Amino acid sequence: MKISCEIIRDLLPLYHDGVCSNDSKKLVEEHLAYCDSCKAELKAMDDKLPINDAKQNLNEAEAVKKLSRRWKKGMIKSLLKGILITILAIAVIVLILYCFMDFRITPKPY
Ligand SMILES: [Zn+2]
Repeated sequence: MKISCEIIRDLLPLYHDGVCSNDSKKLVEEHLAYCDSCKAELKAMDDKLPINDAKQNLNEAEAVKKLSRRWKKGMIKSLLKGILITILAIAVIVLILYCFMDFRITPKPY
């Protein structure tokens, strides 16, 4: 049974994505064994899709990067704020302790 290139090219996208039936797959593979132009067509699909995917991934990666950069900026800001508040709190506690100890240590003047 000889299948025309047009039928194969209808099936190629399905074959390429691996969603056609086993019979279709067999037909396509038999045809590809002797038809170079359909083989080239399939190869073109192989070449085309990964580039699109890569481009999309790149865009997504860029978006994620931007987002994480913005997030990092916010995080550093809040981190600095937290450190500042902690230092202030420690300073206040040390000051209070110091005053308290000073008050306890210094003998009463009487
Ligand atoms: Zn063909």
